[in-house]
Amino acid sequence: MTLNTPSQTVDPPSSEESKGLILIVDDTPHNLQILSTALTKQGYQVRGAANGSMALIGAKNIMPDLILLDIKMPEMDGYTVCERLKADAATQEIPVVFISALDDALDKVKAFTVGGVDYITKPFQLAEILARVENQLTIGRLQKEQRQQNEQLQAEVRDRIAAEAQIQALNADLEQRVIQRTERLKQEIAEREKAQEQLKYMAMHDPLTDLPNRTLFLNCLEATLQEIQQHPDRSFALLFLDCDRFKAINDSLGHLVGDQFLVAIAKRFQRCVGDQLLARLGGDEFTILLKDVSNEHQATDLANAIQQSLLEPFHIGDNEFFISASIGIVMSHPDYQQPTEMLRDADTAMYRAKALGKARHIVFNASMHADVQSSLQLETDLRRAIERQEFILNYQPIVALETGIITGFEALVRWISPELGFVSPGKFIPLAEDTGLIIPLGEWVLREACRQLNEWQTHNVTDIPLTMSVNLSVKQFSQPNLIEVIDQVLAQTQLPAHCLKLEITESAIMENSDSAAKILDQLRARQIHLSIDDFGTGYSSLSYLHRFPVNTLKVDRSFVCRLDAADDNVAIVQAIVTLAQTMGMDVVAEGIETTEQQLQLKALGCEYGQGYLFCKPVDAETVREMLASKNYTLG
Ligand code: C2E
Ligand code: MG
Ligand code: MG
Repeated sequence: MTLNTPSQTVDPPSSEESKGLILIVDDTPHNLQILSTALTKQGYQVRGAANGSMALIGAKNIMPDLILLDIKMPEMDGYTVCERLKADAATQEIPVVFISALDDALDKVKAFTVGGVDYITKPFQLAEILARVENQLTIGRLQKEQRQQNEQLQAEVRDRIAAEAQIQALNADLEQRVIQRTERLKQEIAEREKAQEQLKYMAMHDPLTDLPNRTLFLNCLEATLQEIQQHPDRSFALLFLDCDRFKAINDSLGHLVGDQFLVAIAKRFQRCVGDQLLARLGGDEFTILLKDVSNEHQATDLANAIQQSLLEPFHIGDNEFFISASIGIVMSHPDYQQPTEMLRDADTAMYRAKALGKARHIVFNASMHADVQSSLQLETDLRRAIERQEFILNYQPIVALETGIITGFEALVRWISPELGFVSPGKFIPLAEDTGLIIPLGEWVLREACRQLNEWQTHNVTDIPLTMSVNLSVKQFSQPNLIEVIDQVLAQTQLPAHCLKLEITESAIMENSDSAAKILDQLRARQIHLSIDDFGTGYSSLSYLHRFPVNTLKVDRSFVCRLDAADDNVAIVQAIVTLAQTMGMDVVAEGIETTEQQLQLKALGCEYGQGYLFCKPVDAETVREMLASKNYTLG
């Protein structure tokens, strides 16, 4: 079935210029014709349908802008057509204008009820039709526009809602990121702060013992000094601790054991110190800041407690160790401005404790400061003296006690300073040791003493066998090239090696215990003699005597000078002589001043002696004369 275009007497408008497309549904061809012509003339495009079925199909196909619908039609009346059009989503918007001969109000009501928009009664007036059609089309167009606008509005609203949702989502995402970022930043800051704290801690603490280090100690000391300035009624003490002979432990057992030992020592100190500040300055040096003390006894009590605690042995691995400490104490004083001044004085007092025999404490006093100053001056003078060669050697005979015959000499260095006059070796030798100046000085003494004895022996001054004893300091003994130097000196001076006796102290051996055996073996291989000087004043352990090739024990003057006074000394000298005899060593007694001492020593079995009774240390010329006169018997 097709829609017919009603035959027209006027040219139909093209779709572009048309005012609208109108479908006319009427079973009366005449009506169709009239309407079509009139509408076409008015500029509408027109299609016609002769019955309801054609109308439904046509409406769907051509989608007219308006339908003029007859009611009374065979098969399907206009109401039904309208109902179906309205029931179909595709066509329900097309406005339907009923045209009918029925003019009952009910019919009109029904027409509107089924969805019609207007109602024209037949016989119709063309003008009315045109007006109503135009009216309806305008309404339709307006409605369409309205709809489109609504749709557009809705679409815009939808878009806006979607955009807002998107913005919200973005916001939420951003917020989340900001939170995450803030969290990350917080974490980073916390980590950085932790790292900084750690660095700060490391900069202020000793990694081995975990004790405060020098920097932290000085900071605390400075703060405490400031407190004292504000509260002059308060006072505190500073203790400076240095382990005695720690170097020997480090050298002989290695740094690993040395480190373990230091940790153990630190723990023991900490036990004594409690919650007062204990710091490790470095090496085997520790310091204590003892706050709120009213007198120096509180500080010396702590020093005593520390010394006491060190009497217990330390166990490291399978080994047992003992150690002592020298302690310098300084009390706070308003004159102290800088922490380093107080530390310096505590250090000075500690050195004094060492010099007085170690394992003790000394409280600083102002005279020590003056001593330090003068020792600094002396050091300068000593350096200059070495450059200017202000030294000479004196020689003190060593005699056989039985006969009084000279068996050799001990070379003793003398410093005759143009500015200071005679300076005692007791004063400058320890200083030369501390400053290392003993190395060049000692080498000169060795060379000069060897040269001198060789001169006396080869220039026919004497024909009796003599030895030359030369003192060797701890520092010299620890020089790695010691043997090389001795070989060189003997070669240069031509003195037979067996004429040379080296005097070392027990501490020289003990403080170099790992290298001592090798050095002493090398000396023995060259037939150079070895004497232990000042025997009896140093270590109480005698076990080293079995291990080392020692030829002579020199009994210290302190035992000899009091031989007459105390029985104890007699017993000690007796014990030394017996010990020497059983080990195949000989004994020289030092510092014999009286005949009684000589006799007593002889009676105790001591073979050799040295002292003012026989001869004071004298210069080379005096010895030369003595030897040249062939009077070898002294005393
Ligand atoms: P020393 O090696 O024990 O020397 C013996 C000291 O006792 C000497 O003191 C000597 O003059 C002194 N003396 C000897 N007989 C008597 C006596 O009957 N009565 C008294 N009261 N004293 C006596 P000096 O020369 O003052 O030397 C002191 C210390 O200085 C020496 O003790 C030695 O340790 C050291 N010394 C001296 N010269 C040198 C040297 O060239 N090198 C090294 N490293 N040390 C030296
Ligand atoms: Mg000596
Ligand atoms: Mg001596």
